[in-house]
Amino acid sequence: MKIAVCIKHAVDESELKMDPGGSPMITGAAGKMGTFDKNAVEEAVRLKSSGGGDVTIFTVGPADARKSMKEGLAMGGDRGVLVTADPVRIDSLSVAGLLAKAVQRDGSFDLIICSEGSSDVYTGQVPPMLAELLGFAYFGYAKKLEVSGSRIRVERSLEESVEVVEAPLPAVVSVVSEINEPRYPTLIQIMQAAKKPLEEVPPSALGVETAPKVVVRSMSGQGSNRKKVMLDGTPEEAAAKLVDALRAEGVIPR
Ligand SMILES: Cc1cc2nc3c(=O)[nH]c(=O)nc-3n(C[C@H](O)[C@H](O)[C@H](O)COP(=O)(O)OP(=O)(O)OC[C@H]3O[C@@H](n4cnc5c(N)ncnc54)[C@H](O)[C@@H]3O)c2cc1C
Repeated sequence: MKIAVCIKHAVDESELKMDPGGSPMITGAAGKMGTFDKNAVEEAVRLKSSGGGDVTIFTVGPADARKSMKEGLAMGGDRGVLVTADPVRIDSLSVAGLLAKAVQRDGSFDLIICSEGSSDVYTGQVPPMLAELLGFAYFGYAKKLEVSGSRIRVERSLEESVEVVEAPLPAVVSVVSEINEPRYPTLIQIMQAAKKPLEEVPPSALGVETAPKVVVRSMSGQGSNRKKVMLDGTPEEAAAKLVDALRAEGVIPR
């Protein structure tokens, strides 16, 4: 089975700083593979191990995205395709368009695995757009995947229920984090990943219009005002004052 995994080199939220106006400082921020994209890679590698085939990792990202690609290759991907465009400057439809063309150019894939949402912007738009552009079946929020011959069976994790659906391949699936536990590559796997093929493709080679239709006007963090109350006294006195303060705020019952 020919499997593609789409991963995003997302902004590392643990490293993100805000400017004095409360906007995230994206330029120069550290990046990492999207948290849930590790589940997508893990699932692809598991399917390859049980049913054979190969796994190609695709990303649309800046040169720095090679780091995330190498991580995916170390986890068990066979080769990578990096479309060298910065997702900060284009919209979801352009990302999906570039991925669709890159996937088509690369051959006929049976299954494309994404995650439910990137760990930075999390619009959840790219996977269904990709399916639509490719004309593939789409299953969102998969918590379990089974491929049998040319059919796929998916358990979809919904808010209050689980839906079980089937379709013939090819398909695009977005997975949720509960689907698996991503592996940590060993040192040997990390060293081997450095020798795996990683192709860079400029967007111009794919003929996709990337001028964004959607313009993000502003992005700001949710402010939270702390009360900065200091409780003095012995530990027992401070604890009693804390309980009184929490009661006064209605956090715990009187
Ligand atoms: C500072 C900043 C400015 C922005 N400005 C704009 C703007 O002006 N207009 C606009 O429309 N958007 C803008 N964006 C959003 C940006 O374009 C999105 O990152 C992009 O549209 C992808 O959507 P997403 O991250 O929500 O991915 P989701 O749709 O949440 O991702 C779901 C899954 O799709 C796959 N995927 C997503 N992105 C990629 C990728 N690059 N490569 C490979 N697979 C991928 C992964 O499997 C991922 O888990 C901006 C973002 C930032 C940080």
